[in-house]
Amino acid sequence: QTRLKTKSEHPFPDWNPGAPVPYAALCQTFSLIEMTTKRLVIMEHCALFLRQVMRLTPDDLLPTVLLMVNKLAPDYAGIELGIGESLIMKAIGETTGRSLPVIKADQKDIGDLGLVAVKSRSTQPTMFKPKPLTVRGVHQGLMGIATVTGSGAQSRKVDGIKKLLSAADSCATGKVDITKDKGGPSEAKFIIRFLEGKLRLGLAERTVLVSLAQAIVCHEADQKDKVPTTTELENGESILKTVYSELPSYDAIIPAVLEHGIKNLRDSCKLRPGVPLKPMLAKPTKAITEVLDRFEGQQFTCEYKYDGERAQIHYVAKDAPQELSRATASASREAASGVASIFSRNSEDLSKKYPDILAKLHSWVKQDTMSFVLDCETVAWDVDEKKVLPFQQLMTRKRKDVKVEDVKVKVCVFAFDLLYLNGQPVVEKPLRERRELLREAFTPVEGEFGFATFMNGQELDEIQDFLDESVKASCEGLMVKMLDGTESGYEPSKRSRNWLKVKKDYLSGIGDSLDLVVLGAYHGRGKRTSVYGAFLLACYNPATETYETVCNIGTGFSEQVLEELHAQLSAITIDRAKPFYSHSGGGQHQPDVWLEPRYVWEVKTADLTLSPRYKAGCKEGVDPAGGKGISLRFPRFVKVRDDKKPDEATSSRQVADMYRKQESVTKSKGPAVDDDF
Ligand code: ATP
Repeated sequence: QTRLKTKSEHPFPDWNPGAPVPYAALCQTFSLIEMTTKRLVIMEHCALFLRQVMRLTPDDLLPTVLLMVNKLAPDYAGIELGIGESLIMKAIGETTGRSLPVIKADQKDIGDLGLVAVKSRSTQPTMFKPKPLTVRGVHQGLMGIATVTGSGAQSRKVDGIKKLLSAADSCATGKVDITKDKGGPSEAKFIIRFLEGKLRLGLAERTVLVSLAQAIVCHEADQKDKVPTTTELENGESILKTVYSELPSYDAIIPAVLEHGIKNLRDSCKLRPGVPLKPMLAKPTKAITEVLDRFEGQQFTCEYKYDGERAQIHYVAKDAPQELSRATASASREAASGVASIFSRNSEDLSKKYPDILAKLHSWVKQDTMSFVLDCETVAWDVDEKKVLPFQQLMTRKRKDVKVEDVKVKVCVFAFDLLYLNGQPVVEKPLRERRELLREAFTPVEGEFGFATFMNGQELDEIQDFLDESVKASCEGLMVKMLDGTESGYEPSKRSRNWLKVKKDYLSGIGDSLDLVVLGAYHGRGKRTSVYGAFLLACYNPATETYETVCNIGTGFSEQVLEELHAQLSAITIDRAKPFYSHSGGGQHQPDVWLEPRYVWEVKTADLTLSPRYKAGCKEGVDPAGGKGISLRFPRFVKVRDDKKPDEATSSRQVADMYRKQESVTKSKGPAVDDDF
């Protein structure tokens, strides 16, 4: 903060005011960030650069921030690059006139496609100096690659990459030794890394957000020829974090902050229908007594934990014209009485999956309810028996372009929270009040819409009985939530202590299942010869942007599932581990094939143990002697988690917390078992 407060003496090249920000300047910042692991230093580089962008070319603040967070648009826009390693290698080869086998050999040798691009560019004779890349140009180019559709899309994507690569300087400072300085500020390297989805700078989105807040506060002070106070910097940070958690869209926030200033941001940027927010998440528990300890002396409430798919329903009635125009500008579709959208846990638009919900919405929305955002679970519904069906039934529904008349598995929506009502966010109100508002605004309709069943009893016996009742009603267990006071507000995007989950299956185990990324596969033997027989799984470490391996798994798969997985995974094999996979070396421990990090699976485990073969939690200090990671004992496949992206997998910190909390750490259990095969 001290350096930030002084008027910027910064190491970045200047550009003319109003001129597009040179991409080389951004890459230079990336390179400085890459050279350090100190969070404060990273933040300082980032903030100084953003402040310079604000000073010289504020119009480029949005694309600069987007390129820093490795995004092209808000998550709900559903814009994905959809590019695998083979397309990138093809583009590098064609741009630099090197053959694919040579590029592949380099990739095998170097292991980092970004560096392969640097090497390829620096060995290429430059015929003419290309027009320098700009931040807005790179953003547009990447956007073009992401949005190509129709016939020949793959080759047009390759063309798009080639266009960017041929304009990219291999390195702003001339030739580099890729083994020594990580490839330097090479534009080609950072373009490739963006395409791969990992910049690997240790620049978490949270860090960019804090740096952005600091840059804005400093810039506003610069304009008044003042030095910002520490309180001003802290307030700016807190405003921006809150606003982003309620309206996670830089496209909305950045123009607003440039126009109205940070102090007024909360008034101009509020939660609104059409822009999904990241949901509040719960912490796992292993016993009801743990719940009682946590909430001692406070009022709490227990709700059924429905086992379906999380859904955030957004709606604006036709008669609310002002709100309507904003909502239609974002992702919304026509419902009978207004516009509505359904978003998944990770902000994907599910409206095409659930047209049946949208078609019936008018029957449960009361007439004077003009707009809302609801947090709910959709569950499969047995129309004859009038009861909830297991999660597996819901999975049989098609994911896209569902026609209402073709729907075989009916769903019922169970609402458990209300985030916005009639033009106003209600997230800050206590849960007790939100629940009352929820019940006033909607009418339950059997088999279509209901309120999550709850019980406010505070005694252990009552909770145990309610848990048994929930399981009989085909639920997974209970959600226990703080009921009154400021702590009972809805906390978007947080895994909060104010929401606890009690899953029936995990009482006395480790408290929860894990959601892990598939990084590799082993060829099957015996009955499984034509498919993969086992897989290598990893958790995610957001601080280092690496996937840390946690187990091999070969149990819990039916033959049919193994066949489906074989078809799906053989399309994403890669020649070697990505540089951001953290796994113990040693020939016999390598999987037969490595995979792109794309799929997340839910996995159960008996418990967690330390193992030299795996890397999960290595950086969390779980092994005092160092070297060992955490691994799952007797892991069992539960299901594919379509609603989670790889970066939303269980984090290394969560795995480390589970490990520390489990009893086996203190009570020795005899020799550890690393694998189930
Ligand atoms: P994570 O594993 O990241 O915590 P998850 O999506 O795997 O998230 P769980 O942690 O198992 O889910 O439990 C929280 C989920 O339970 C919510 O995301 C929601 O989909 C579901 N759920 C069902 N009933 C409720 C309820 N009454 N209140 C809150 N969430 C509920």
